Amino acid sequence: MIVIIFGSPGSGKGTQSELISSSFNLHTFETSKLLEYEFNNSNDDNFFEVDGEKFYIKDEKKIWETGGLCSPPFVTQLVLKEIRRLHNEGKGIVFSGSPRTIYEGEKIAPVLKELYPNKIKVILLDVSAEDAIHRNSNRRICTLMRHSILFSEETKHLKFCPIDGSELKRRKGLDDPETIKVRLIEFRKRTMPLLDFFNNNDLPVNKIDGADTPVNVFNNIVRVLKDDKN
Ligand SMILES: [Zn+2]
Repeated sequence: MIVIIFGSPGSGKGTQSELISSSFNLHTFETSKLLEYEFNNSNDDNFFEVDGEKFYIKDEKKIWETGGLCSPPFVTQLVLKEIRRLHNEGKGIVFSGSPRTIYEGEKIAPVLKELYPNKIKVILLDVSAEDAIHRNSNRRICTLMRHSILFSEETKHLKFCPIDGSELKRRKGLDDPETIKVRLIEFRKRTMPLLDFFNNNDLPVNKIDGADTPVNVFNNIVRVLKDDKN
């Protein structure tokens, strides 16, 4: 099975991806980790050639190190290679936060359809901007494993991570309300065209209310994953 899960910052996407991955035994696909691995393990002079254009590792590494987004053709080649590798190993995949560009979506959708026919589910965790800002600016991260604890009635009194017992701390910068507003706008701008693309290509997007408690959200996702009609 393939699960592609979209959600703005504060939608609980990370938590739900982890839950889906362990419940359905799926590999969690994180493009950022894939890029990091490639940059640390391949020769700087290596390149990918896409449509006659060469994308050198060293150039992409430079973009990545300065916080920019790597060239979509380069990222897409890497993603496709990894999808084929996982498919060869007989693994299913949950995509968390990717594809990130329409270019990437257009390239990977046909490959996924070919390798995993009728086994692809697309999910959007829907939260309002107010909720996202509220939950993010009150989010805490555990100091040991960086588990993300979103703000809720159930979690607001927690001082320590319920999974590993380490102290919970707020993240400076990334979770400030002003930064979150920018991240939300960027998310919308980037993701809306992708959702349209999937809806128009026989991969309907299943919208799930992300403002509910994590356990309810998860149960709603499971319902979609087990339903043959979505
Ligand atoms: Zn933890």
